[in-house]
Order: sequence, then C-alpha cells, then structure tokens
Amino acid sequence: MQTPDKILKEQFGYHSFRPLQREIIEHVISGQDALVIMPTGGGKSICFQIPALMKEHVTLVISPLISLMKDQVDTLTANGVNAAYYNSSISEYEKANIIESAFNGQLKLLYISPESLVVAFQSWLRKLTISLLVIDEAHCVSMWGHDFRPEYAQIDQIRNYYAHVPAMAVTATADKVTRKDISARLGLKNPQTFLASFARPNLSLAVRAQVTKSKKESEIIRFIQSRPGASGIYYCLSRKETESWSALFNAAGINSKFYHAGMSSSDRDTVQDAFIKDDVQVICATIAFGMGIDKSNVRWIIHNNLPKNIEGYYQEIGRAGRDGLPADTVLYYNYRDVVLLKDFVEDSDFKEVYHEKIKRMLHYAEASSCRRNIILSYFGEASHEPCGNCDNCLSPAPSIDATVIAQKALSAVSRCAESVGINLLIGVLRGAKTADVFERKLDKIKTYGAGKEFSFNAWQYYLNQLVNLGYLEIAYDDHMNLKLTPVSELVLKHGGKVEMAEFTEKELKTASSKPEHHKQEVDLGLLEELKNWRREKAKASGVPAYVILHDATLQELAARRPHSLSVLSEISGMGKVKVDRLGDEIIGITSKYPEGDAPSTPQQRIEKKSTYEMTLELYKQGLNAEQIAKVRNVSTETILGHFAKLYENGESIDLNKYVTEFEVNRVKEVRRKLNQTMHLKPIYDELGGEVDYRKIGLALSILSKQN
Ligand code: ADP
Ligand code: ZN
Repeated sequence: MQTPDKILKEQFGYHSFRPLQREIIEHVISGQDALVIMPTGGGKSICFQIPALMKEHVTLVISPLISLMKDQVDTLTANGVNAAYYNSSISEYEKANIIESAFNGQLKLLYISPESLVVAFQSWLRKLTISLLVIDEAHCVSMWGHDFRPEYAQIDQIRNYYAHVPAMAVTATADKVTRKDISARLGLKNPQTFLASFARPNLSLAVRAQVTKSKKESEIIRFIQSRPGASGIYYCLSRKETESWSALFNAAGINSKFYHAGMSSSDRDTVQDAFIKDDVQVICATIAFGMGIDKSNVRWIIHNNLPKNIEGYYQEIGRAGRDGLPADTVLYYNYRDVVLLKDFVEDSDFKEVYHEKIKRMLHYAEASSCRRNIILSYFGEASHEPCGNCDNCLSPAPSIDATVIAQKALSAVSRCAESVGINLLIGVLRGAKTADVFERKLDKIKTYGAGKEFSFNAWQYYLNQLVNLGYLEIAYDDHMNLKLTPVSELVLKHGGKVEMAEFTEKELKTASSKPEHHKQEVDLGLLEELKNWRREKAKASGVPAYVILHDATLQELAARRPHSLSVLSEISGMGKVKVDRLGDEIIGITSKYPEGDAPSTPQQRIEKKSTYEMTLELYKQGLNAEQIAKVRNVSTETILGHFAKLYENGESIDLNKYVTEFEVNRVKEVRRKLNQTMHLKPIYDELGGEVDYRKIGLALSILSKQN
C-alpha cells in the first residue's frame, strides 16, 4: 500500500502536510470515526481524499453543494484520480455510467447530494460496498449551525445501514454546541474530534465604521483599482444593493456582475462560471454566493454590511486566499445594520441566541485590539500575539487622556434627555444649525457647541469608543438613541478619568496593499505568460483556471523558472499526473527565462519572518520594547508579542524585564489548577486581575520553554 506522504507528493504535488492532516488521515485509515473541524481553505478535502485512495472500495462523500462537487471532481480528475459526482444535474445516461464504474471497482470517490442519496439508496446504492463515508458541510445536520438543511436529517439512516464503515464528518463551523450535535445526529461512534487552528495568517482584516456613502464609494473603487485583475467578492445584504454596486463598478471601468437569489438559476450559474474562469473580476452578491465554489485565487472580500454572526463572517472571508497567498478583507458597517439584522430574526425561536451573536459581531467590528485574536478567541483558541495583519495591529492609535471629551459627550447626552442618536448628538456638540436641532430646542442646552474643535468623524470615533468602553449604550430598541450607563456617573459626577485612542483621519489600510508584500522574486512577464497559457488551457478543457494550476503554483513557477522536469516536479501543486500532462508545455515557456534559485515557497515568504528579524536586530542594538515600538511605529504590545515568539524560538531575549519571576510563578500555580490550560482568559479570571493579559502571555511563553 502507498503511504500518505507518497500520495500527497505524487498525486497532489504537495511537499508536506498541513497541521492535523496526517493525524486525521492515519486515524481514518485505522478504521475509526472522526469529526474534523477546519476553517475554510484549511485543507479538509485531502483528509478524506488520501484515505479514499488507500482504501480498497469506493469512498462516498455526501455534499450539499452541486457546484462544489463538480469543482472537487474536476480537481481530482486533473490530478489523475478516478472520481465522479452524482446529483440532479447529470443525465440518466451519465448516472448509469457512474453506477457501472462504481460497481466495477474503478471509482475511488463518489460525491453525492443528500437528495440524490436518499433516492439512490432505495435502489442501487445499498448494494455497493463502500470503504469510507464522508459527510461534508456536516453542520448542515444541526439546527444550531448557521445553515441547517432538512435533507441532512435523513443521513442518519444511511449511516445506520453502513454502521460497520468508518465515518468522517467535516465542517468549518467550530461552535461547540453544533459540534456535539453533529456527532449525535450522525451517529458517529466515539469520534475523535480534530479541531484545527482557525488562524488564517494570509488574510488581512480591516473594519471601516460609519463611512459616508460617497467616501465609501471612492475608497472601494480605489481599493479595487489598485489590485488590477484581482478577483474579489463584494457582499451586500440586499439584492438591490448588489445591483447598484455592480453598476457603479462597471461605470468605473471595473468588470463586475451581480448575483442574488432573485435571479434564475441559469443566470446565476453563468455569473458564477464567469467568475470562476476569471472572465469577471468582481461579483457583487448576497452571502449565498461563493458557498459552492472552490475558487482558490479570490484576492479580496469586502462586506457592505455587518454580518449576523462571527462564524458566518469568518466562513465568508475564508473564501479569499485559499491558495495561501495574501488576500485582503474589509468590513464596512453602520449602526443601522444592527437594526436590520435584529429585525430579520425578530420572529425566530432562537431570537436570544441570534441577538447574542449579533452583539459579538459588533464587538469585533468596534474593537481597537488585534482583530484576529478576537476571532480566534471566539472559536476558543488562545492567541496572545498580535497578528500584525489587521488594521488595529498595523496602525494602532496612540492613547490619550480623553476625560474632557468624555465629559462633554456624556453631559450632552444627559442634557438631551437621552433621546438623541449619534448624528444628532454630534450636531449638538458641534453647534450645528439644523432643523432638527432648532425644532427640539437643542441649541438652548448648555453643551450646545461645546465640541466645536472636533470634526464630525472625530466625534463619531470617540462616541464609538465610549460605547465600547461601556460609558454609553445604543438603545437598539429605542430609535438608536444614546443612553447613559451606571459607569457614566463615574465620569459625570466623580471625576473619573477616561483614556481613549486618539482620532486620526484614517484611510483604508490593509497589509497586502503595502508594497513589500508584493515584492517577490517572481518574473512578472513570465507570470503573465503563464496566466495566458493557463487561461487557454482551461477554456480548452472546460474547467476553471485554478483546476489546471493554482495561482500559488504559477507564482512559484515564475520565481523558479524551471528548465527541467525534475525541477518542475519540486514545485508545490505539480503532482505526477500534472507533470506528465503539462510538463513539456510549461518547460517550453519557463525555459525561455533564466533559471532562478528561489527555494522558498510563496507560503514561506508570507510568514512574517522579516518583522521578527527586524525586532530582533533592534533588540540586539540595545533598544527596549518601547523604543523598538517607536522606531517601528507599532504598539509596544506588538513588540512584546515578537519578543515572546523570538524567545520561544530560542533567541536570548530577557523577558523578565516585562514580567517578574513572581508573576510567572503565580501563572504557573494557577495553570496547574486549570489542567495546564494555555488559554489566557481562565488564567486571568482565576488570578482575579492580579496579573494583566500581556504579562500572562509572556509568562506562558516562559513556561512553555521550561517544559
Ligand atoms: P477546505 O478546507 O476549504 O475544504 P481545501 O481542501 O479545498 O480546503 O484546500 C484548500 C486549498 O489548499 C486547496 O487548493 C488544496 O489543494 C490546498 N492544500 C490542501 N492541503 C495542502 C497541503 N498539504 N499543501 C499544500 N496545499 C494544500
Ligand atoms: Zn491583529
């Protein structure tokens, strides 16, 4: 029997497994059940595709998304694997062919939709011997997931019938309740749960709050124009918006189409197909778009509105950068979005749960700390190192004494009898002469015009923080009016001090829009030539371009410029079958250019190595964390994160300057009590705030090194 490593290299052309893939494959091969939770783009498919190739009989993959099935089968076929899909989209003739190849033992993987499964099961399917049962998008079986599908409820019968066959449930939804529910509903037997890290370091994260329509339009158009030809998705809440944004983009010379549930299914297929084939650059869509496609080179995703929960949002942005190359995500939101979202779920039985989820989403949007860490902690993952690839890490705002600002704002809210929303309050503070103000006689109150020194945007920024910090509340059930809270009193009556991040006129900034991320050793002329060749190839064989070769593979080709098949086969994504089928043509192109010697893969290149190295260099020159932070124009916290990482990597960094031995020992004691957890929050709570988060993080680095 071939080993998993050999199959990975020869069939898929990859050099090494990603985290957990090997463990999962070995577990499944040994005949046990598994529940696999990995973020979108994490590499779930290989976890069952490799066992499928190692097992004697066919592997049955239940998958709800017809286009995704086609995509996976195309990709497998391009790699020389015998796979097929069976659903309502294929003819009876094709069905007969598939059934035949399933029974004569040629077929290794059979993808089937839950609807077709039930029908097929009543006739031919029950006679087929299968080796492995895979349930993809397994969260669809649970009411607690965010995408329940009634057809999935029937899978348990099929599972019972194949009780002796190992089963594997696969999902990108990490929610704990859903996880448990999946195992129960699918009748998994003592399944081992494999929970992969949800970190996707190649995705940059940015949020833009309350941007005016015209600013937003010009900002987004500039964003897209600065990424010529880069595929992107613009998500909107309403159908009408998808249409108007698409029209706007086209008017700006950006090739765009819209996509929503109000269109006929053939129109939708056409749009999706054009996007997959890189014939359309930008799709403006409601969130249903993208679910069923595996397009690996989506370079950016923008949300026009606040999503309804973090898991959905993370799945949506996860559709970008599946090839591991940098991709950008931006979320625009408005307070009105919250009202809309709440209206949507008004009649639901799970209203409370949904409201809580919206609240968490809003926390994310309003945060001023590292956004990736917020997401990771939502999924129960501890991460104490700033990611360096979100807007908050990239341009942390300096903090200032904002007591006077807070006093003005809170007293204005109080004098307006807590019955004005943000915009009107800002009008009052800035002494606006508007009808609203005069009608309600707000120009007569004492704080009218008390905040003239700040712009509208500045006030918005500060009020937003006051809400975040708990000094103000937005009454979503009372016309979005601002309300005081118990802590407001501290400021208004007891002279409490308030610190806030200083307002600066921010522009949309994402990591990969900075040039150094694009600086790679690739020959751009060659890359262009390879892309054109790939497009022709894809057209001729009727598959998406990324099925022929991934963007990451093209980039590596353009960097290494191989002159021989043996060098070619070292490139990630060049499996045996692809080298055989495409090798000569590729070499024909690349050998026109001088051979390069770039052993690092694009994956390695985007690892933030250089940033650590820069910090280390300055440290060696004798600078402390604060000084390095100044020099590098990042927060001290970021630098301490670098220190921790460098320390864990064995560099001699003196962390005891930032956390005392006593504090480390306290953390150590508490961890012992908490089963050696690596999570910050429980430790912090157990210590009752005695040691701050940053120090706990450093202590964990020290302790992990001691072990
Ligand atoms: P998902 O978890 O969303 O189903 P996929 O299985 O589609 O993710 O994998 C995402 C991308 O990563 C695919 O293009 C896949 O070929 C690639 N991939 C998966 N495993 C590896 C690996 N070990 N090395 C390199 N690329 C990989
Ligand atoms: Zn960050």
